[in-house]
Amino acid sequence: MSKTVALIVAAGKGERAGGGVPKQYRRLGPKPILVHAYDRLASHPAVHDVVLVVAPGEEERAQEVLARRKPLAIVTGGATRRESVRNGLEAIGATDRVLIHDAARPLVPGSVIDRLIDALRSADGAVPVLPVADTIAEAGPVLGPVVDRSSLLRVQTPQAFRFEAMLAAHRAWTGDEPTDDAQMVRIAGHEVAIVAGDPMLDKITVPEDFAIMEARLGDRTFRTGMGFDVHRLADGEELWLGGIRVPHSQGLLGHSDADVALHALTDAILGAIAAGDIGQHFPPSDPQWRGAPSSRFLEHAAALVQAAGGRIEHVDLTIICEAPKIGPHRDAIRARIADLLRLSLDRVSVKATTTERLGFTGRGEGIAAQAVATVSLYEAHP
Ligand code: MG
Repeated sequence: MSKTVALIVAAGKGERAGGGVPKQYRRLGPKPILVHAYDRLASHPAVHDVVLVVAPGEEERAQEVLARRKPLAIVTGGATRRESVRNGLEAIGATDRVLIHDAARPLVPGSVIDRLIDALRSADGAVPVLPVADTIAEAGPVLGPVVDRSSLLRVQTPQAFRFEAMLAAHRAWTGDEPTDDAQMVRIAGHEVAIVAGDPMLDKITVPEDFAIMEARLGDRTFRTGMGFDVHRLADGEELWLGGIRVPHSQGLLGHSDADVALHALTDAILGAIAAGDIGQHFPPSDPQWRGAPSSRFLEHAAALVQAAGGRIEHVDLTIICEAPKIGPHRDAIRARIADLLRLSLDRVSVKATTTERLGFTGRGEGIAAQAVATVSLYEAHP
């Protein structure tokens, strides 16, 4: 299977966009610009890894805004964009294809990535382009003659290349600073295909661009998911509830650590983004989940929300059992869930109830849990 690595260049100073910090670290809707680009690329099924190139001294800030996302590498950029890309390429080592992208274009449509990768089947490089709609005239102290715009194209990123061709072009480069990577590959004698670009890929350059891009992010909508789970109590098992170990005479039976509370919560989050259920993501028949900590399931669901460009707003969990008493552990469970989901405590609710000694929970045969999760998503529209 051929491999694609995305290389995001985020090494610029981005001062024209204002705000006192480089624009790639400024927030656009739910997250920093750089993280938009990262998530769009990293969540594309054809992209295996992401390498990020940042300005010297920004490595820590970059990892901080990426939170738990794990790039293949965070590389220190050079004095020019070309040097920055070169550093990133050298850090990739080996791959079949590379997508080179500027972080200042946060909204990367998956359809453009599809077209680029498809075009690489018959070319060494591919770029997304758009026609020029405005009249273009030569600059001067007064208006110069009109340039024939039918012969012009706006070239965007990401740009896709066969990795070896791109790396060789960079290593051999002796010319002036190129404006993009496609020109380097083209000048090295390779064919660069053009595919349809997308206005969503416009670059953020000046402060006004933020408002335009926020509008393109679309309307923020809220979705709610629910989850429910039951596990049987048995002797000789550890009891895991809400991500913590609770001292009790019995524990829950299950393939993983059987944390019924985290299972209900995971299903609630998956439900909010219509991403199936926990059994589809972590089949009980798969031996790798034997005894697995359910925190991994919950973190996976949270990562899916992130990849969809969403944010978990609130979760509400109810644990249903006669014993143990949940009250003494409630704060620890809340704190643990807040930590796993990277939420503030006021967004995590943990409740407990009994069933008045009725039914299986009342007889102490098992523990049930139900959960509700609210997620906000930006519905992108061009
Ligand atoms: Mg379960």
